[in-house]
Amino acid sequence: MKRRVLITGGAGFIGSHLCDFLIEKGHRVICIDNLITGSLSNIKHLLKNKNFKFIKHDVTKYININEKIGYVLHFASPASPVDYLRYPIKTLKVGSLGTHNALGLAKAKKAKFLLASTSEVYGDPLIHPQKENYYGNVNPVGPRGVYDEAKRFAEAITMAYHRKHKIDTRIARIFNTYGERMRKDDGRAIPNFLSQTIRNKPLTVYGNGSQTRSFCYISDMVNGIYNLILSENIHTPVNIGNPNEVSILTLAKIIIRLTNSTSKIVYRTLPADDPKVRRPDIALAKSKLRWKPKVDLKEGLMKTIDYFKNQ
Ligand code: NAD
Ligand code: UDP
Repeated sequence: MKRRVLITGGAGFIGSHLCDFLIEKGHRVICIDNLITGSLSNIKHLLKNKNFKFIKHDVTKYININEKIGYVLHFASPASPVDYLRYPIKTLKVGSLGTHNALGLAKAKKAKFLLASTSEVYGDPLIHPQKENYYGNVNPVGPRGVYDEAKRFAEAITMAYHRKHKIDTRIARIFNTYGERMRKDDGRAIPNFLSQTIRNKPLTVYGNGSQTRSFCYISDMVNGIYNLILSENIHTPVNIGNPNEVSILTLAKIIIRLTNSTSKIVYRTLPADDPKVRRPDIALAKSKLRWKPKVDLKEGLMKTIDYFKNQ
């Protein structure tokens, strides 16, 4: 697979780790990003690499590339609830128009295409854990609808390009991922709790903290996505995540313990439509991708804590 890879959203958290991984594997990487929630600091170490090219561009506008491309990986989109609530229309546009443009590019270049979808397509799930054949429970007109519906549309148009134009597509349903390069102010639970403990401020648990999430460390996520890119003939969505489920209150307590912090916990209003539970069923990824996560929560958090302390 030593072909040129184009990544949209490559200056973001997951995208920049993918850029590193692919360069390391010997690929040439073109990263397209408008830096709305990403940062050049995530890729600055790559800017002088001859196998890496950065293009500042909004992918909701036509994407013009003159080179051959073997793979288009579409990661551009605000991903933190705080970010997509700040940019509701840009989030809808990047999931719809941006995905359309990225698919159009893959079609023109006869490239393989991978969509970074999300566990949010399951909404506030009524089936637990979530298997790929669950259609979800999404409120289209709630605040999170801008992200959830954009990603559901993105999945639909990806399947349509596969069926109609025979594009070789993959859909990764990514569950909560964490690690180095998350912005300390991105508003997600782990960056919030880490910046709060480091500053000895109280940890803000929303609701009573009984809602659950299952957190996957970034290196496991990148390996899973890479295996999905290389896989043959899996066009329907594949869950990628770590099935180790914890309540948000437990997560807050673990972070206080690992950082030896004196921070207390304070309770804040639970945001609208906040999913009550979330855990991936990863049987499909295990069997078809021969992949499973290796980094446990404590180990991943310790690496992330080191990174946040150095920021
Ligand atoms: P991120 O915000 O760090 O990265 C997203 C990147 O996309 C940013 O660099 C941003 O500037 C860029 N971007 C946004 N709109 C753009 C546009 N119109 N044109 C060009 N670039 C644009 O978020 P992340 O956590 O790295 O998420 C990356 C992808 O993975 C997203 O598509 C997200 O939906 C998906 N995902 C992430 C998680 C997670 O837990 N991190 C979970 C599920 C899905
Ligand atoms: N959360 C919290 N305190 C915070 C940030 C988030 O209790 O400071 C909760 C949030 O309400 C949700 C969970 O943590 O139930 C995970 O939130 P995150 O924003 O990380 O992502 P989500 O999984 O909701 O997309």
